[in-house]
Amino acid sequence: MIRYRSLGAAGVMGASAHLVSIGDAAVVLDAGRDPRGGGAPEVGPAQRAGARAVVLSHAHLDHSGGLPILLRGLPGVRVTATPATRALVDLALADHLRRCRSQAGASGLPFSDAERRAIPWAERAFGRAAPLWPGGPDCTLLPAGHLTGAAGVLIEMAGRRVFYSGDVHLASRAWQAGARWPAGPVDVLVVESTQGGNAALDGLEQATLEAALLTALADALRRGGRVLLPVFAFGKAQEMLVLLHRGRIQGTLPQVPIYLSGLARAVTRACVAGADPGEGDADLLAAALRSCRPLTAAVAAQPPVEPAVFLAGSGMLGDGSLSNGLAERLGTRAGDAVFFVGYLDPETPGFELRASARDTEGPDARFTVRSFPFTAHAARQDVVAAVRALAPREVVLVHGDGAAREHLAERLVRETGAVRVHRPVPGETLALAER
Ligand SMILES: [Zn+2]
Repeated sequence: MIRYRSLGAAGVMGASAHLVSIGDAAVVLDAGRDPRGGGAPEVGPAQRAGARAVVLSHAHLDHSGGLPILLRGLPGVRVTATPATRALVDLALADHLRRCRSQAGASGLPFSDAERRAIPWAERAFGRAAPLWPGGPDCTLLPAGHLTGAAGVLIEMAGRRVFYSGDVHLASRAWQAGARWPAGPVDVLVVESTQGGNAALDGLEQATLEAALLTALADALRRGGRVLLPVFAFGKAQEMLVLLHRGRIQGTLPQVPIYLSGLARAVTRACVAGADPGEGDADLLAAALRSCRPLTAAVAAQPPVEPAVFLAGSGMLGDGSLSNGLAERLGTRAGDAVFFVGYLDPETPGFELRASARDTEGPDARFTVRSFPFTAHAARQDVVAAVRALAPREVVLVHGDGAAREHLAERLVRETGAVRVHRPVPGETLALAER
């Protein structure tokens, strides 16, 4: 029998952690922590099930941020991930500790730096099936197209197959190739549903979106503007960097300086060093990194007056961030603009700026504010097509809000045949694929 239980928040984006058992072989998939709300994966069910391995799909904190806390309750258990994910998790956890320390002091740290350094990694390249422990289930990691190193996880034991999508982007974008899923069928698919409720992505071509951004950027720059793109350091920064680099090479973008902030530079270097050839064109990413300038606190405090593009964290204009400071200082020249290229949480300064800009468009606006719906999560029609190809007997929807999971569940039942679709709630254990 196959069992599934969420150890985090299955119904929201906050924290991904899942317990999957095939017979008595139990594995924890991801160990996320809500970067805002805190908390940690539930370790009790994993202990009671005798979990002997943790597999990490990728480095974002909502999948990795609770790892040191989870491991306190699972002594001797190793963490399987790609080499790039290991390197990025190291950067993400160190940065998380740095931010916790600056906000709440040493007493507010969720785990220690020694715990971060002591994570017992078991690196695994893409595409190689091997047991997670002697006599344990085989595990194969496959590129997920979401972030460098990000993997879908195939677990196989005694003829039973479970595939966990992690966070996934199925189509190619910028320099990164789309996800590769295993050949079907599988017994159980655990799949993310982040964009399950987003009709705006239906039929939206990546190339159309990229061209719209480059056209808007070129227009602002030719009017003498400086354009801020608030970006997350992990993923979005690399995507935008390559788009801008390509735009300059192809002549769709003027030859203006591109500035990239510090953490994003470190992450980009780790992506170049750790990317698997199957993940995309890391040489293009390396060339893009060489072509940009460091965005330091000094530059952000006194931005150049000539046209330029700033790729600056945080992606939501968090208080005290470089992007927040730049947004304060831009608006003194014609053409100055802020272009959002990702998700904005309500109650963040970025969300507020975008909302207030809608009320002040026109000649009185300090600068242009626009949004472009770039996402690292699969559009729902892509999920439906991929599920149809994989032919799972049962589907477990995770990592999406209630409306997203509801819409996707309906479509999967309607468009993929007699698939059984589950939307687990916290604390619920699903018994799956009974024969
Ligand atoms: Zn992610």
